Amino acid sequence: MRPDRRGGEEAEVRVRIDGDRCTGHGRCYTLAPEVFGCDDRGFGEVAADGDVDPALEGPARLAAANCPEEAVFLEG
Ligand code: SF4
Repeated sequence: MRPDRRGGEEAEVRVRIDGDRCTGHGRCYTLAPEVFGCDDRGFGEVAADGDVDPALEGPARLAAANCPEEAVFLEG
């Protein structure tokens, strides 16, 4: 964690899904349901605001590594 401009804590890692690539295989939300969810058509979406709790970085990276469309991006 590093301090943000408001004096709070900012996550080290952020995650996003490229909706143009996602074809809805569901591996992300199966492997890391705390980080990812799905919309009503089964396409992956980031469950929260994109900040990854450090305790969930491993599952988030596992999901990114297993996305067949390489649609999951971790930054930071
Ligand atoms: S694993 Fe990849 S293709 Fe499948 S739902 Fe998640 S982001 Fe979409």
